Amino acid sequence: MEDIILLKQGEIVLKGLNRRGFEMKLIGNITRRLRPFGNFKIYAVQSTIYVEPQDDRCDMDKAYEAVKTIFGIAAVSRAAACEKDKDALFETAKRYLGDTLHNVKSFKVESKRSDKRFPMTSIALSQYVGGRLAEAFPHVKVDVHNPEFTVHLEVRDYAAYVHGPSEPGAGGMPVGTAGRVVSLLSGGIDSPVSTYMIARRGVSVIPVHFFSFPYTSQQAKEKVIELTRILSRYCGRLRLEIVPFTHIQEEIGAKCPEELFTIIMRRFMMRIADKIAVHHGALGLVTGENLGQVASQTLEAMAVTEDCANLPVLRPVIGMDKKEIISIAERIGTFETSILPYEDCCTVFTPRHPKTKPRLKDVVAAESVLDIDALVEEAFAGIESVPCDIGAPSEN
Ligand code: ATP
Ligand code: MG
Repeated sequence: MEDIILLKQGEIVLKGLNRRGFEMKLIGNITRRLRPFGNFKIYAVQSTIYVEPQDDRCDMDKAYEAVKTIFGIAAVSRAAACEKDKDALFETAKRYLGDTLHNVKSFKVESKRSDKRFPMTSIALSQYVGGRLAEAFPHVKVDVHNPEFTVHLEVRDYAAYVHGPSEPGAGGMPVGTAGRVVSLLSGGIDSPVSTYMIARRGVSVIPVHFFSFPYTSQQAKEKVIELTRILSRYCGRLRLEIVPFTHIQEEIGAKCPEELFTIIMRRFMMRIADKIAVHHGALGLVTGENLGQVASQTLEAMAVTEDCANLPVLRPVIGMDKKEIISIAERIGTFETSILPYEDCCTVFTPRHPKTKPRLKDVVAAESVLDIDALVEEAFAGIESVPCDIGAPSEN
């Protein structure tokens, strides 16, 4: 009996002519993601993707956990493959799902048949296997309306499969099918979530972090690298671009009015992010901004910040409550790292009374004492690019 993984494709199936391209991308992403767990054959038939282990060194448990993080997949299940024969299907269901059937009170069998040459209808097959399972597990009753457990049978072109209920996949679209963005990644809670959310729409991400050593510590940088590694489970291979930001902050601190420190700093972030985006052919900037959370995140402040960006600024968590953002951060595994207490560059030179409704012309006047172009060039030239792949060592 062969254990395999079945993946139901998500929204891709709605794509007309492009569909094949989306599917190829998805298969490529799955192949790359599963490489550490053994040698698998991965192929699509209709809207299902089959993941078949090629030898017994494959780690099926880890592979199954990993596929749940890949965007573009609506549902995942583990299944046993068998011969396309009613008795083989019964025997396989009995063996493969026996433990579960022992522990439930009611069940039903549901069959699908895409191989129309199979000699029984789906209903007849369900009745046959259901009847035999009911004999084999006499304490479990058949309940076709409200069963506690459903045994799924699928008769496909090359084989038949038995599986229990499927679990939700990561949803969204395959990464790499919707262009590229630069995502501003702080060490906080929000920007890892906004990065995850934009990647979920199929976008490839270039994470960028502004780093103010020695005002922010080496540990603060390690924290962002770790967040990037966690995100790479979902976003695919990532390179974190670390921008030296100390000189810019010192210049702002020395020469600009305190109440505008944060907004001017933000404008520098936008200019540099925009430059990185152009350099890598990215088409937008992403932030973890959330309306009204802090002084710099009023609509007025955002407008002044955005003024420096040529590319569209996307803010996937703009309308969420903090509670919602936190619950996503917990689910995707970034929360614990985000709350580690290392300072971020935003907390260096924090104004005591930041201006909540800055006016563009005041900010432009205040920053005009700085050599903006030279500072941007200098920061850009000092970028350190750190490859961050699926980090959790336990996974590899
Ligand atoms: P987060 O939880 O993402 O830090 P926040 O609510 O703390 O967000 P701010 O610290 O004001 O808000 O930052 C707003 C956004 O600006 C962040 O979500 C992030 O996209 C970007 N940002 C802030 N600091 C940095 C940094 N040091 N490097 C890169 N991006 C940053
Ligand atoms: Mg922050």
